[in-house]
Amino acid sequence: MTDTLEKTTTHQQFIGGSWVDSATGQTLAVENPANGQVIAHVQASGPEDVDRAVKAAEKAFQTWQHTTPQERSLALLKLADAVEARADELGRLESRNAGKPVGAAIDEIPAMVDNLRFFAGAARVMEGKAANEYLAGHTSMIRREPVGVVASIAPWNYPLMMAGWKIGPALAAGNTVVLKPSARTPLTAVVLAELAADILPPGVLNVITGTGAAIGDALVAHPGVGMISVTGDTDTGKHIARTAADRVKRLHLELGGKAPVIVFDDADLDAVAETIKLFGYWNAGQDCTAACRVIVGPKVYDKFVAKLADEVSSIKWGDPAEGEHIEMGSLIAGAQADKVEGMVERARSGAEIVAGGHRPTRVGAYYEPTVIAGPDQRSEIVQDEVFGPVVTVQRFSDEDQAIAWANDVRFGLAASVWSGDIGKALRVAKAIQFGTVWVNDHFMLVSEMPHGGFKESGYGKDQSMYAIEDYTVVKHVMIKL
Ligand code: NAD
Repeated sequence: MTDTLEKTTTHQQFIGGSWVDSATGQTLAVENPANGQVIAHVQASGPEDVDRAVKAAEKAFQTWQHTTPQERSLALLKLADAVEARADELGRLESRNAGKPVGAAIDEIPAMVDNLRFFAGAARVMEGKAANEYLAGHTSMIRREPVGVVASIAPWNYPLMMAGWKIGPALAAGNTVVLKPSARTPLTAVVLAELAADILPPGVLNVITGTGAAIGDALVAHPGVGMISVTGDTDTGKHIARTAADRVKRLHLELGGKAPVIVFDDADLDAVAETIKLFGYWNAGQDCTAACRVIVGPKVYDKFVAKLADEVSSIKWGDPAEGEHIEMGSLIAGAQADKVEGMVERARSGAEIVAGGHRPTRVGAYYEPTVIAGPDQRSEIVQDEVFGPVVTVQRFSDEDQAIAWANDVRFGLAASVWSGDIGKALRVAKAIQFGTVWVNDHFMLVSEMPHGGFKESGYGKDQSMYAIEDYTVVKHVMIKL
């Protein structure tokens, strides 16, 4: 790691509408994982910063909760415009901070902007149920109230997009937010705060930049926080849920995934292979919906494995700074490459590595795009999230086994079913326990439709009207006539 402190910017935190240093007096280095260079410093927040941020958000909530849906909607639309105006710069910054190809990082921004615009609209159509006289002489109505201060804890894989998914519905519903980006990728959240500073009243959005270890518990346990929304690892979600349980706090958990791709003998194999080449390795496979666990019909298995190995071997990977031809960048950190390497090494004995399978000897956090054929259903490589550029392929014997294997993991976020027989595809879509099921496609998301898991992938939905409902509490008001 080369530390170029004298050349890098040290960013402050955004609390109560002001830019402030951390109470700890310390900073954290932020690296570009594609080359190991330190590219900036941020404040190393401590519990005192959490307290300041939550208090600022509590104060702002006193007024923000009483704004009209129209006012909140207009503010979110302005924020969306401001992000859009700096899309290119934000994408390039994300690329440098997360090791992503530049084009892919820039492409994330319109999706984030669309999400903010969707919630700007949703703010105005959120409703309780119609009033009625359920008890003679009394009229009942349902209100949806904001929860209060939401702690929004974001991961490093899509830093700005995940921040947007969290703040959009939270602010639209009338909550105020303390956003904690991952300490590995805080830079676009700092720019988001800069943009919000001119649009949102002080304290409505606060951004603090500490590690989960240093401030996670303080933030989750803070009595002023009414709800915690976290996108991250399943173990992080479990830890947060335990801490939040003491005060029975509301939780929104978007956790790990291990998406099956069920390919029947009658599927369009070229389309499947092309899609997996893209969405098994998008963001270097560091995606909770990555098409990483392919379960293929008995008649086409051999042909498909050869086809996929060919496709994947052609992926152009490297430092995004090398040029626009780079399709896959680095992993987020050396520690993540260690994890991927360890899992592939342990998988070797029970399966065949038909593409990749090596950690390159070069500076930066790289791992080759890898395909592993024939692992056992109970093996670690099939059961656990790799979060790297590794796809497994298994041969199933019949539809029942395909369904059983698809469901036989602790995660339940996303899946796809590939077949020329729409009836069969829909039967399987019903039988598998995943929050999103694509038929003859994978990875497609839209702001109008919910995204969230079953089982240990968590609960609560991002995107869609379901998300804005998650960020509210239902209240019954009964009036004696
Ligand atoms: P992570 O769990 O390491 O970190 C996520 C966030 O939690 C970070 O901001 C981190 O600082 C914070 N954190 C860590 N410990 C904490 C604690 N004790 N208290 C409070 N906060 C704490 O996850 P990651 O490695 O940044 O992201 C990758 C994970 O996120 C993968 O498991 C992936 O599947 C998951 N993910 C899920 C979805 C989804 O929609 N379900 C989307 C993207 C990523």
